[in-house]
Amino acid sequence: MEAGLVELYRVTGERRYLDQAAKFVARRGQRTLPEHEFGWQYFQDAVPVRNGEVSDATRLERLLPGLKDLANRGAKVIVISHFGRPKGGPDPQFSLRPVADKLSKLIGRPVTFAPDCIGEVAEKVVGSLTPGDIAVLENLRFHKGEEKNDPGFAQALAKLGDIFIGDAFSTAHRAHASTDAITRLLPSFAGPLLMEEVAALRSVLDNPQRPVAAVIGGAKVSTKIPVLTNLIAKVDKLIIGGGMANTFLLAQGVNVGKSLAEPDFAETARRIMHDAKARSCEVVLPADAVVAAKFEAGAPSRTCPVLEVPADQMILDVGPKAVAHYTDVLSRCRTLLWNGPLGAFEIAPFGEGTFALARTAAAATEAGRLTSVAGGGDTVAALNAAGVTDKFSYVSTAGGAFLEWLEGRELPGVAALAV
Ligand code: AMP
Repeated sequence: MEAGLVELYRVTGERRYLDQAAKFVARRGQRTLPEHEFGWQYFQDAVPVRNGEVSDATRLERLLPGLKDLANRGAKVIVISHFGRPKGGPDPQFSLRPVADKLSKLIGRPVTFAPDCIGEVAEKVVGSLTPGDIAVLENLRFHKGEEKNDPGFAQALAKLGDIFIGDAFSTAHRAHASTDAITRLLPSFAGPLLMEEVAALRSVLDNPQRPVAAVIGGAKVSTKIPVLTNLIAKVDKLIIGGGMANTFLLAQGVNVGKSLAEPDFAETARRIMHDAKARSCEVVLPADAVVAAKFEAGAPSRTCPVLEVPADQMILDVGPKAVAHYTDVLSRCRTLLWNGPLGAFEIAPFGEGTFALARTAAAATEAGRLTSVAGGGDTVAALNAAGVTDKFSYVSTAGGAFLEWLEGRELPGVAALAV
């Protein structure tokens, strides 16, 4: 068995990957070519680009170890990815050229850019690569076949490489040509980042150390009903904050003034609380709140019990009593899963509740008392603002895929790699 290929999957700790890799290498027999003639990596989606430049390189930085590993082993690494929602044709504002430029700077070696991801243009660029070279191909979504999971498009992609490595957990909830169809055409493996993400999520939902708490915040109940329904069957404490807590309060007959709330979902909130009780999952709601008359930075605000929200005010954050209660609940838990801010954290001073609980969770994690996994775009921004992202056990940058996992759904891009 060739050590390199196997080593790449060692992070998984799963025999299946080693077996797959071994079989693949055995089929190849005595090869004179480098270990990977072609490796494939896949950017996580939505590396943000503004004015032709990558504005936040977090997702790219996370890919560097895997990319470097492949290149250092003499692979010709072809990076395929998507960005934004172009309408199935070329659109310069969604070009991946800035991503190739940024990647080159980050990785400290030239990165070739191919202005198309299939056909002659791509084949020429790929044909010019030497072992250890990296190329980024243009946005996959410039071809309609990508989102249609079209076998013909997948075939055109597969022609360029010998091995497919799926390393984008954040796109794994879509069955697209580059996450699904291609895996039926090339020997396919999960990359280190995707494996890390799946392992982290399994550690909190499949066989966690109990008690387990989930902190679910964010704007609306309506977008997270399947998440809440799935979690009450899995966690011991469901801590609810953010705008969505208002609908739960409303469901209990609390007057929430001008707060963001969804009266149409009060019944759903009641059902979730009822089902949670039947499953011995404790739903924890805020006892007090920070209220203001306007959703505005610096708006005059004050703290009050949730039972006393004035009719002309809105709840924009959880209050200190709520934070103390959440902290107490968390101090008795061994595992934490967090999605969604507890308040309108983007505007001061309404991030304090979120930041305080984030700091508590980070300290408990550092002290070895808690395994903490958080995810979702706003959540990551909130943890960044609190300065604790790297103190959590794992922070997922995936948005939709993270939520679908919390809903208990099978993700096509993970299933295709038999992770
Ligand atoms: P989500 O995408 O559902 O996780 O929601 C995140 C958004 O919820 C953030 O932009 C927050 O500003 C917003 N949010 C959280 N709490 C409140 C609240 N009490 N009132 C209004 N918006 C809120």
